[in-house]
Amino acid sequence: MRGVIMHAPSDVRVVDREDPRVIHPTDAIIRVTASCVCGSDLWPYRGADDAADAPMGHEYVGVVEEIGTDVKTVKPGDFVVGSFMASDNTCEICQAGYQSRCVQVEVMGMIGTQAERARIPHADGTLVATPGQPAPDLIPSLLAASDVLGTGWFAAVAAEVGPGKTEAPQV
Ligand SMILES: [Zn+2]
Repeated sequence: MRGVIMHAPSDVRVVDREDPRVIHPTDAIIRVTASCVCGSDLWPYRGADDAADAPMGHEYVGVVEEIGTDVKTVKPGDFVVGSFMASDNTCEICQAGYQSRCVQVEVMGMIGTQAERARIPHADGTLVATPGQPAPDLIPSLLAASDVLGTGWFAAVAAEVGPGKTEAPQV
């Protein structure tokens, strides 16, 4: 398959990558419909973080193609929105609402979803299926739910944002 690799700062290439396959019974393989560039991708692009041959992409939506034997909540053909951090959504930390710090967390950026396909660990905790197939013009909005919405929501809740309060977002 084709996928995006950051070879070095300011050097991003579309290359041939190995096709993903189910490794763990909790994995799913998706065909990526849309993926995007996150602000956090720009740190290595600018040279502020290590970027040696790093796969790119952790914001993604797609269609499930294959599931491991333990996956229960998504099935082949489902359109799914995936989280930027793969989590089981069952451990104590997940249940407390901190899925990005799951005891089994896997960083999707290490897998790279700017690719034709991707392996999604802990598919039951990481992927949310939409009701039916979304219209093409809805896909960018669903893509925003992969990272931006959840991150912003968490920040707003953690900061106790509310009517009449003044907030100073850090960007
Ligand atoms: Zn967990």
